Amino acid sequence: MRAVSKARAILLGLALLAIAGVIAVFGNAFATRAYLDQAATRGETTLRLAVAALRGHMSRFEPLPALIADHDDIQALVADPANVSLRARANTYLKEINGLLKSSDIYVMLTGGFTIAASNYDAPLSFVGENFNYRPYYQDAIKGKQGRFFALGTTSLKRGYYFSSPVRIDGKIRGVVVFKVDIEPIEASWKSDEYEIVVTDPEGIIFMSGRPEWLYSGLLPLTPDRLARTAISRRYADAPLRELPVVRASFQNARQLMNIEAEKSAREYLVVEEPMTEAGWTVSVLLDTNSARAQAITSVLAALLLLGLAALLGAVVFQRRARLAERMELQRTAREQLEQRVEERTADLASVNSQLELEVTERRATELQLRKTQDDLIQAGKLAALGQMSAALSHEFNQPLAAVKTYADNAAILIDRKRIAEARDNVARILALTDRMASISRHLRNFARKPNERLGLVHLDEVVHDTLEIVGWRLTAADAEVILDLGVEPLTVRAGSVRLQQVLVNIISNAADAVEGLTDRTIELTARHNADTVEITVRDHGPGVPEAISGRIFDPFFSTKGVGKGLGLGLSISYNIIKDFGGSLTVENHSDGGAVFRIELAAANALTHEAAE
Ligand code: ADP
Repeated sequence: MRAVSKARAILLGLALLAIAGVIAVFGNAFATRAYLDQAATRGETTLRLAVAALRGHMSRFEPLPALIADHDDIQALVADPANVSLRARANTYLKEINGLLKSSDIYVMLTGGFTIAASNYDAPLSFVGENFNYRPYYQDAIKGKQGRFFALGTTSLKRGYYFSSPVRIDGKIRGVVVFKVDIEPIEASWKSDEYEIVVTDPEGIIFMSGRPEWLYSGLLPLTPDRLARTAISRRYADAPLRELPVVRASFQNARQLMNIEAEKSAREYLVVEEPMTEAGWTVSVLLDTNSARAQAITSVLAALLLLGLAALLGAVVFQRRARLAERMELQRTAREQLEQRVEERTADLASVNSQLELEVTERRATELQLRKTQDDLIQAGKLAALGQMSAALSHEFNQPLAAVKTYADNAAILIDRKRIAEARDNVARILALTDRMASISRHLRNFARKPNERLGLVHLDEVVHDTLEIVGWRLTAADAEVILDLGVEPLTVRAGSVRLQQVLVNIISNAADAVEGLTDRTIELTARHNADTVEITVRDHGPGVPEAISGRIFDPFFSTKGVGKGLGLGLSISYNIIKDFGGSLTVENHSDGGAVFRIELAAANALTHEAAE
């Protein structure tokens, strides 16, 4: 991408250089031509004006020689040239009209060219007595034509335009009247920096010019022919002729160009010319091409500058566009990368999600399985408990029942034998046995848990007393001893008496189990009143609860006792009961050995005594 744009930039640069070259070469040629055309148009206008001015100037004087030739004084003089008074009159007349017409000189010649009267008869350089027969204007007039000629005066050394006319007397040509017009005032209006106006004779020699140093210089080479022709008419009297230092004359696009040496360097002129046949000369306007060429160069430079500016602008725009494109490309890639990353993340998330869903489903299934297993276990536990209970009950009831049957049989026999006193003794034993069975049945009923029952004020000493009665047979069996310490003041707690009793039965039974067969078989039941609570502790002197299982002994069906001995329900039920009371049941091992079960219950006020259970 970079290499391509670089190559493109180089190509563009080369193309620009080529365009600049084309503009420099062809543009310059084109502009030069256009400006030269403009200059030519200006030159033609100048030329037209100059020609018109010259023509106007000349035409004013053209008919005058013929008029003068017809004048009586001139006629009389030519008819009688030797007459002094006629000469004097003619001279006066010529001087007078010369002053009026503002011409240079007016003079009269006889056939042969001899001047007999002149307007400057009284001037130091008078024409009177001079012979001008070599002048074409004389030669034309003597042949009967109107003569015209321009030349440098041989006597006056002043340039002028000569008009001549024959003097006819009785139809015969007897003399010539010449009228010379000063041309210098016309030249004076030709001064300009931009152009030069020149008038050249048929030989190419400059006769009139705004630049005096150009006078009598040949625009064309001064060949011997030309010099000879000029010498005959003595057009330039004795003035030295030279060639104008034309370095080069050329034609360019139908325009005539001329390089003329000036003081320091050559100047180039554009030449436009118009021949004035009636006057016998050619008027040329030489326009300095400097300004046209400078304008052309300025235009080309301006065009090049514009091109440069356009190229610069183009480069700036191109660069900005390239930068913009690059930025957009970067943004696009960044966006694509982002989108790709988002897609990847989404895919990852989706897979994690499905994984999670799978796990959740699996966990649910496991949970279901667990719950089912738990239910099965509970069911099994319940059945086992029922079995054990049944075994215990049948054992507890069968023995007294068998005894009752035996005592009843014996009593009947003793009554038959009239041994009433012994029979009564047997009946008393039967009564004692039924009492015992009733007591067992009552205790069994007390095991039933009623979690939703209302709580009330419970006298702790009563509950403890009942408990000890219930577990009495167990303590006896284990040969354990309970040492009571319920404090001095009677303690009351917020609880349900039967359920609290059930808890204490469980804990004391466990303690009895723990100490059975050991040397120290004492169990300490202590109760104390704390701030708002009553704390009951049951400490035995057994092996204590091993650390590893202390966290699990409150779980349902957790038991370390052998099959048929423990259900693992006692502590679980107890824990839940105490929780129902809003209290807590914890276990720890005594530092001197043995487990310590601690029950904490809210202390109850005697005044808010409520009937409980
Ligand atoms: P069970 O007595 O039927 O085993 P429990 O829930 O009453 O069920 O007791 C759970 C377990 O807690 C017992 O198996 C025993 O390991 C432990 N345990 C309870 N009381 C004590 C105690 N005083 N000393 C040592 N271990 C005890």
